[in-house]
Amino acid sequence: MPSTFRRHWITKPIFRMAQHALPRLSDTEREAIEAGDVWWDADLFTGDPDWNKLLAFAPAKLSDEEQQFLDGPVEELCRMLNDWKINWEWHDLPPEVWDFLKTRKFFAMIIPKSYGGLGFSAYAHSEVIRKLSTRSICAACTAMVPNSLGPGELLLQFGTKAQQDYWLPRLARGEEIPCFGLTSPEAGSDAASMIDSGVVCRGTHDGQEVLGIRLNWHKRYITLGPIATVLGLAFKLQDPDHLIGQRDDIGITLALVPTHLPGISIGRRHLPAMHVFQNGPNWGHDVFIPMDNVIGGVDQVGKGWKMLMSALAAGRGISLPSLSAAGAAFSANMTGAYARIREQFHVAIAKFEAVQERLGRIAATAYLLDAARRMTCAALDDGHHPAVVTAIMKSQATDRMRIAVNDAMDVHGGKGIIEGPLNYLGSLYRGIPIAITVEGANIVTRALIQFGQGAIRCHPYLLKEMMALEDADRERGLDAFDQALWGHVGHSIANAGRAFGRAWTGGLFAPAPDAGAATPFYKQLSRHAAAFALAVDLSLLSLGGALKRKEMVSARFGDILSELYLASAALKRWNDEGRQEDDLPLLEYCLESSFSTIETRFDEIIGNFPLRPVAWLLRFFIQPFGRHRRGPSDRVTDKCADIITNPSAARDRLTVDLFHPTELDGSNGIALVEHAFAMTVDVQPIRDRMHAARVRDIDQAVKRGTITADEATKLKAAAEAVAAAIAVDDFAPEELTARGAASKGAVSSQATSQTRPVAAE
Ligand SMILES: Cc1cc2nc3c(=O)[nH]c(=O)nc-3n(C[C@H](O)[C@H](O)[C@H](O)COP(=O)(O)OP(=O)(O)OC[C@H]3O[C@@H](n4cnc5c(N)ncnc54)[C@H](O)[C@@H]3O)c2cc1C
Repeated sequence: MPSTFRRHWITKPIFRMAQHALPRLSDTEREAIEAGDVWWDADLFTGDPDWNKLLAFAPAKLSDEEQQFLDGPVEELCRMLNDWKINWEWHDLPPEVWDFLKTRKFFAMIIPKSYGGLGFSAYAHSEVIRKLSTRSICAACTAMVPNSLGPGELLLQFGTKAQQDYWLPRLARGEEIPCFGLTSPEAGSDAASMIDSGVVCRGTHDGQEVLGIRLNWHKRYITLGPIATVLGLAFKLQDPDHLIGQRDDIGITLALVPTHLPGISIGRRHLPAMHVFQNGPNWGHDVFIPMDNVIGGVDQVGKGWKMLMSALAAGRGISLPSLSAAGAAFSANMTGAYARIREQFHVAIAKFEAVQERLGRIAATAYLLDAARRMTCAALDDGHHPAVVTAIMKSQATDRMRIAVNDAMDVHGGKGIIEGPLNYLGSLYRGIPIAITVEGANIVTRALIQFGQGAIRCHPYLLKEMMALEDADRERGLDAFDQALWGHVGHSIANAGRAFGRAWTGGLFAPAPDAGAATPFYKQLSRHAAAFALAVDLSLLSLGGALKRKEMVSARFGDILSELYLASAALKRWNDEGRQEDDLPLLEYCLESSFSTIETRFDEIIGNFPLRPVAWLLRFFIQPFGRHRRGPSDRVTDKCADIITNPSAARDRLTVDLFHPTELDGSNGIALVEHAFAMTVDVQPIRDRMHAARVRDIDQAVKRGTITADEATKLKAAAEAVAAAIAVDDFAPEELTARGAASKGAVSSQATSQTRPVAAE
């Protein structure tokens, strides 16, 4: 029992004050916070993460069966896809691809085998999406939706036995195509404000009068909506005649709505950034469904928001992070190769420092995103549903893919811009805003979820304090608050000591596992974790509920938490992959860039903190000497650039399991560049010899005996391969002006090389 004196004279006044100061949870916030669980994010919040625990966590692994699926059906599907024709000529996946997706169970990766699905792990699911994404965003998005937030996941988590038995086998066999309708024209990010409604009433279903719901809705942006046979629908349920209880307003409810029912209109199609996966609006007018169609049955009415958040908690960590990791790895693969074969000023552009700056960043981003993807999948496969971690993954992975792909575009110059079958980047580039916007647009995710939910969810005491403050039984609340508060005080004092000690000694004595060359990185992260925990406590204490509205401050805290998470993932990857010496520059780039961002965000928080005395305290405790880390050095950047511009085991580790087409024809820009890259590397020693002899012309070099006739042939073949690889498409004017020509299959591109063949040096 807490001491009566402390409880009465100290805790009680604070309890009263805190009831006004601490952020109050709205119902939807409470449900979001209750969804999922916490994982490594909670360790980071303690201010003293246990690194050995992280390193001991088993890495994600594929079973033999999952590997066979990737090597078999996924590879076969990739070979069937022609992204150019899908987007610009057919405006849809061709029928044989739809058929393949359904019959080979791409839509049933998360459905257990007992229901006829593939029953894959999160990691296998992620690997499938990653590989598909490097071939066709349209195919990847099509495969993503039934496996993420939607009827399948919701039925698995919340469906009644009868619903699971009926729907899951049908979904697994591809007999039903699902979609999920949450977003409406009025309600986007603030989805809970939807006006779509359902009214409990009696109606006729299959010729019988039953209890059910009369629905009216208008949704938009719904992926697979135009072809779906079953719509998972979110709406607000009312029961004015009290047919199922005493409440008028029951709240957000989820139901399965077969799309053939009378009153449903499936609108026309949206074209999301010219990616032609099926997407569109739909609406319903007085559509009647029986009560059995509510996911989870009548017991789950009004619990829709919680169900959605719970489904999002896992799904958000798989689909979009996998697409993003794929985008970064693909950019590393193609840009490294292209920068090596493309010459300007008689030098491969990979040799220019300003280009290396971009190449280095692409390489490190690819390393980091895949590290975080693997670590997050491992957590999901271990049974966690870490809602904050998956929100971090969604927003950070998609944002960082944008940086990598933008860099890739810049390094490719015109080659990345001119559209046509030879262009392998434009499609990815156009897809970025989609990934950034869906499943929680990034601005709102960064500002409100990464930290806002993180602080409440992962903090060792805050949620307990908030729950105690809201306890209807005041005495019980006060007891619980007393316990949590004094635990919190002890935690804050310990963190203040840690943060101060580690900041004033530059993290020299901060805890770190024995991790070889990576040990100093752990020390710095331990230092920043302690600073983060202290800064969070001081901010919550001084700003209370106002912190929720200070989005710029909380977004910066979100960035720091994200950096701590992503940097942990990079360290874990390096360890799990056997501490590869050759990958050290990539690790160093990731960590140095994290330290720089963390220090910058702390500096910005301190500089902008509304209560100046608190800002001074923060400065004293966590950043007494200001910012020091400037990000990765030029030396490290240069080494990272080298990794992707030269074949090596390190390069292979970075670009592993991407799809590599092999046909060297005008519809396959990837294969042409990869082929030219291999040939350019192969002839490099010959070119080096010519360079040393100061002869540029191949025939001259043969005449002078610098190279042999065979070597000359090789050089010419390499030059031809490069010419084919740097070529771009062009079209006859009438192909582009004739409206609708594309859809009739009339547009055919012709690749031309507008650049002279590479001269050997
Ligand atoms: C291609 C595509 C596919 C989609 N598929 C589906 C689907 O299958 N099912 C479905 O239900 N929905 C789907 N969506 C909808 C998607 O989830 C929404 O687009 C998304 O939630 C954002 O809503 P909005 O576009 O209306 O943007 P808005 O809500 O209007 O937001 C505009 C901007 O304001 C920012 N913002 C809003 N509120 C805040 C705040 N409080 N603080 C800071 N910033 C804020 C947002 O981050 C965003 O940057 C899809 C969307 C697209 C584009």
